[in-house]
Amino acid sequence: MNPYDVLVAGGGLTGAAMAATLAARNPALRIGVIEARPFDPKAHGEAFDPRVIALTEASRQLLEALGVWDAILARRVCPYGHMVVRDSEGTGMVSFDCTQVRRPDLGHIVENSVLLGALLDSLANTGSVDLLCPATIAHIHTRGSGVEVGLSGGEALVTSLLIAADGARSTVRDRLDLPVRRWDYGHSALVATIHTERSHHYTARQWFMATGPLAFLPLQTADGDCRYTSIVWSQERRRAEQLMALDDSAFCRELTFASEGELGAVLSVSRRYGFPLVQQHALDYVAPGIALIGDAAHSVHPLAGQGANLGFGDVAVLAEEIDRGLSRGLSPGDPSVLRRYQRRRKPENLAMMAAMEGFKRLFEVRSPGLRVLRNAGMSGLEALAPIKRRLVRRAMGF
Ligand SMILES: Cc1cc2nc3c(=O)[nH]c(=O)nc-3n(C[C@H](O)[C@H](O)[C@H](O)COP(=O)(O)OP(=O)(O)OC[C@H]3O[C@@H](n4cnc5c(N)ncnc54)[C@H](O)[C@@H]3O)c2cc1C
Repeated sequence: MNPYDVLVAGGGLTGAAMAATLAARNPALRIGVIEARPFDPKAHGEAFDPRVIALTEASRQLLEALGVWDAILARRVCPYGHMVVRDSEGTGMVSFDCTQVRRPDLGHIVENSVLLGALLDSLANTGSVDLLCPATIAHIHTRGSGVEVGLSGGEALVTSLLIAADGARSTVRDRLDLPVRRWDYGHSALVATIHTERSHHYTARQWFMATGPLAFLPLQTADGDCRYTSIVWSQERRRAEQLMALDDSAFCRELTFASEGELGAVLSVSRRYGFPLVQQHALDYVAPGIALIGDAAHSVHPLAGQGANLGFGDVAVLAEEIDRGLSRGLSPGDPSVLRRYQRRRKPENLAMMAAMEGFKRLFEVRSPGLRVLRNAGMSGLEALAPIKRRLVRRAMGF
């Protein structure tokens, strides 16, 4: 049997960042990453990837510490210095600016394929990490001192710690019968890249409608053209299906209307993709020899762009706790290491999930009286500089 100190199931954003962080901090650890898809660090192309991440400053710092931020800058990334949030059902508006927190920007929009490509490149150059792919897990047996993992190809592996980073439909979580609480929003998110008449001026924009939020996330081409924007339009499922069925020019007209012509007319749209949105949270993030991270542990509504950022938060804390355990002579899967990880991450992730649920419900309200209150609240917040500063720092992941 092939022995590993740590096995990571899933080489998506969270799993790749986990393996890279552990390898950077502890070159002596033997790490394996089991990924169902073939590794393709060069998957990003000329055209924008319709899936993007609004990366917080805390996540950017994690990537910088791993030495992958420069590779991301060299590929494609767009900083944003301003954010405007509007209530489409009224006049409520709140704006945020990086100067309020004395920073050069509020965050960065990075395409998923660019971010994953940079992480996979760094893993491929790390001697202590084995990329086991394409491969899936056929069986898992937890034993007293570790975990035995059988791959679909027949290979058997043993490890002190199996980290499940295999996404919202985690096989590891399901195989081990780890319970999750799941609730369906009845929403689907429609994502695409659009080309607009006017520049976005490095501003992220969001409109809250009774049927769901619309986000405009700024992109830029290598030669600095700022008329490209990634959209995430979360809508009640039936409405999302109608929007998916429109032809491109009718869709662009709907979007110009929904975005109040803020960037002028929407001139064209890429292929559109739909994602049904489900919020879920594992009751426990840990079991003997097992830790859940990223979407395997929690998945949240994308309205505040926090899913991957929460996953990177899990990565940072689990790596710290493994380090702490190693310095005391404990193995990575020691129960005290796993308990401390869970204790530190669960409240943070639950608080973010509750906030997303609250936001969604607040803007779903159709009663005129409550709408007036909501708009007055947003306008009141716009005038409260110290509270806005606190909110910005929180949104940046601090
Ligand atoms: C529309 C939309 C917009 C979003 N916008 C943002 C944003 O702006 N900011 C943000 O922070 N987050 C955002 N998110 C959330 C973010 O995309 C996710 O939180 C993040 O991608 C989760 O990464 P992960 O690595 O945990 O899981 P995944 O990305 O699902 O990766 C799981 C990996 O495991 C592999 N795998 C699965 N099963 C197996 C198996 N049995 N064996 C081996 N490998 C397996 C898969 O192939 C995959 O590579 C958004 C999500 C959506 C839907």
